[in-house]
Amino acid sequence: MPDFDYQLVVIGSGPGGYIAAIRAAQLGFKTAIVEKDKTLGGTCLNVGCIPSKALLASTEHLHFAKERFAAHGIIAPDIKVDLAAMMKRKTEVVGKLTGGVGFLMKKNKIEVVKGLGRLVDRNTVEVTGDDGAKRTLHTANVLLATGSVPVELPFLKFDGKKIINSDQGIALDQVPSSLLIIGAGAIGLELGSVWARLGAQVTVVEFLPRIAAIGFDAETSRVLQRHLEKIGMKFELNTKVSSAKITDQGVEIHGENAQGNVFFKADTVLVAVGRKPFTAGLDLDKAGVRLTDRGRVAVDGHWQTSVPGIYAIGDVIDGPMLAHKAHEEGVAVAERIAGKPGHVNYDVIPGVIYTAPEAASVGLTEEQAKEKKIDVRVGKFIFSANGRAIASDTTEGFAKIVADAKTDRVLGAHIVASNASELIAETVLLMEFGGSSEDLARTIHAHPTMSEAVMEAALAVDGRALSA
Ligand code: FAD
Ligand code: NAD
Repeated sequence: MPDFDYQLVVIGSGPGGYIAAIRAAQLGFKTAIVEKDKTLGGTCLNVGCIPSKALLASTEHLHFAKERFAAHGIIAPDIKVDLAAMMKRKTEVVGKLTGGVGFLMKKNKIEVVKGLGRLVDRNTVEVTGDDGAKRTLHTANVLLATGSVPVELPFLKFDGKKIINSDQGIALDQVPSSLLIIGAGAIGLELGSVWARLGAQVTVVEFLPRIAAIGFDAETSRVLQRHLEKIGMKFELNTKVSSAKITDQGVEIHGENAQGNVFFKADTVLVAVGRKPFTAGLDLDKAGVRLTDRGRVAVDGHWQTSVPGIYAIGDVIDGPMLAHKAHEEGVAVAERIAGKPGHVNYDVIPGVIYTAPEAASVGLTEEQAKEKKIDVRVGKFIFSANGRAIASDTTEGFAKIVADAKTDRVLGAHIVASNASELIAETVLLMEFGGSSEDLARTIHAHPTMSEAVMEAALAVDGRALSA
């Protein structure tokens, strides 16, 4: 066995890569992590999950202050926005967390190598620093965790000013008077909420017949759309955008829907039509690493690529592009490389859209169960009948439990609520343990909490909700 400098070199320091590096170090591997960007943490910490949630939180406070303070007896007539201060806070939040990853690398004795990583062969990674200096790392195993980048539409090339992607959409220095968003997925809805609450006239154009169509049930889409319309967001569904013209004033967009041709004008256009895997500069073909038909790195059930000893996880491989999916694969792949039984349960990955209210979903929707010809019973409870929601002024939404009609095993949960991202967790745990709606219904939930609505939804599966 040749003597390598490292047992694992991870390329990419997002939630997939940095977690894999930590788990590998915990398992006793000499580990290095390669990152081309200035700070660690990848898309999620630098330009994704974290900055978007900071802005969502700030603008949610703003909206609540403007719309609901008076009802709470709080008189604050002169609420103003300091966008620069809001952005500064967002940058500080990001700095704290990316710095935290640096701390974790030191603590776990993981060597951070700054620069663009390239595969020379299955045991050699070459890193080119910003100054052009090259360094060669010899390693027993390589993990590709290089993530993804925004998809560009051919007729709407990003210019960072009038035609922007999410990287710029979290960093505008003024509120556009009109913002056209293409795509009603997580990015379109989250960033649309941010800028609508800051005063932009936001129109979201979506190709599909409903918003949040990927991974969420039809009722979630309907309820969420209704709430987003209340903050002034407009939706043009079933609409395909086909061409664009940049003018001095902004952008003109042409498209079509069932009625015929449509035309929109906006100061700024945010393209949020998905992300694509990022593999540029890795020299995958030379190393013999195969891609899938859709351009993601092909892996087997243990995240090994077509080249033994080279593994891949996160957004760069198949599956939902979510930080917690990348994170879980990071843990599992490190354990597999160490000869342990690392595992990811792909049937139980929650998805959340962090609007107000939030939408959260795990497992099968009613529609998917029908398609799979699984007979299900569904229990639902609305938050307007939940004591804590009424006391807290957060009565929007519902909790829904989808259970197998024969076995009562919970197959899915769908929640629209102010804190759906947190409420979904107990249903995820329940599903991990193969639990039934009866298990959830008989679990004591503290009173008053919004989680009681989840318990009531479980009771409703058997037609015996107690508070509705
Ligand atoms: P990434 O986080 O993309 O990290 C890849 C890293 O690899 C990057 O730092 C990159 O610079 C580096 N890299 C690439 N190639 C090389 C190379 N050759 N050499 C060296 N370094 C390289 N997901 C959620 O679960 N929840 C959310 O709330 C959420 N919000 C989001 C909001 C926005 C606006 C966006 C854009 C995304 C959001 N996501 C969210 C998705 C989430 O960010 C990704 O799923 C996650 O970051 C994927 O992690 P990863 O480790 O696979 O890759
Ligand atoms: P997405 O795939 O979630 O949604 C894209 C939407 O754009 C879809 O509804 C699609 O039908 C629509 N679309 C595609 N082409 C179109 C066209 N030409 N015209 C009109 N509509 C079109 O993608 P996204 O919102 O860009 O997010 C990218 C990735 O980042 C996703 O995988 C998402 O899971 C992840 N992300 C997650 C979160 C979260 O977990 N809260 C937040 C942001 C991003």
